Amino acid sequence: MNKHVIVIGAGVAGLEVSSTLARLGEKVTLIEKEATPGGHVKDWHALFPNRRPGAEVVDTLRKNLHPSVELITGKAVTGIMREGNSYTVLTGENWSASADAVLIAAGFSLFDARKKEEYGYGIYDDVITSADLEKLFSSGKIATKDGRPPKRVGFVHCVGSRDEKAGNLYCSKVCCVTAVKQAIELKEMLPGAEVFCFYMDLRMFGRHYEELYKEAQEKHNIQFIRGRLSESSEDITGRVVLKVEDTLLGKPLKISVDLLVLMSGMESHASTNKIRDSLGLKRDDDNFLVPLDAHLSANVSELPGLFYAGACTGPKNITDTLADARSAALAISQYLNR
Ligand code: SF4
Repeated sequence: MNKHVIVIGAGVAGLEVSSTLARLGEKVTLIEKEATPGGHVKDWHALFPNRRPGAEVVDTLRKNLHPSVELITGKAVTGIMREGNSYTVLTGENWSASADAVLIAAGFSLFDARKKEEYGYGIYDDVITSADLEKLFSSGKIATKDGRPPKRVGFVHCVGSRDEKAGNLYCSKVCCVTAVKQAIELKEMLPGAEVFCFYMDLRMFGRHYEELYKEAQEKHNIQFIRGRLSESSEDITGRVVLKVEDTLLGKPLKISVDLLVLMSGMESHASTNKIRDSLGLKRDDDNFLVPLDAHLSANVSELPGLFYAGACTGPKNITDTLADARSAALAISQYLNR
């Protein structure tokens, strides 16, 4: 007998878990609040470490989406009610459905860089985020507010991550390698530009990440400065002036750039937080959901029939997110067919 599973969020985790569950014989409804599935990945011009277009990964997952999966887009989940082991999922548009299991795969939000007021995002036009830069890469043109190609570009790591003031002590895991990838792409588009990365420490943990870092230094002469940005301002010529503490030399540093890119970290998504609070689910101090057992039941919540996949339990790269999604599908299938 087919059991009904509702998957919340059609990013890469939601797409993968839905197809896997459908192949395992379950009836799946996949709900996405945006008009199109694919989450953040669909908007990412190129992924690390191999620069594959994000849209290509999403298109493949969509093409492989099992035909029996009911995909509903443009509907945000407004509530989940639990009665015994059954769930009713509601959206704001008078839509509701009951399910034997629910999977939360609502992904993450990027840290709102405006909260770090001292960095100047939302104040100075030439201070942008890593997500903004991906859009510029997609447009094929990198320019300052005056329409000139930037001659000097700075990347600031750990924006909204590992930052007590921002309320996020954790590492977002993917922004170091994203900065290195973006710095290389920028140098390829603008070979004459000087590029600086300001980092606390470089966390290049994944396969081929280290090679990318070496390429950035040796082939592209990207300069890595260990230091934290304290503030940015604009001088009379309109350039962005950075005040940085070089933590290796123990000296303050002042440097002007034409474009400043802030590597915004990941945060628990507002939709997940809403569901979490309405069902009284356990959360960590950093707001991410806490699974039943971090090692042995990483996709299982404390409520029977409620499961987690992807970045709702903490920052993940795409490879780990997809593996987590398949693991969640297996956990759900085992639960439904126990
Ligand atoms: S991955 Fe790098 S930039 Fe991102 S939070 Fe961790 S240390 Fe900072």
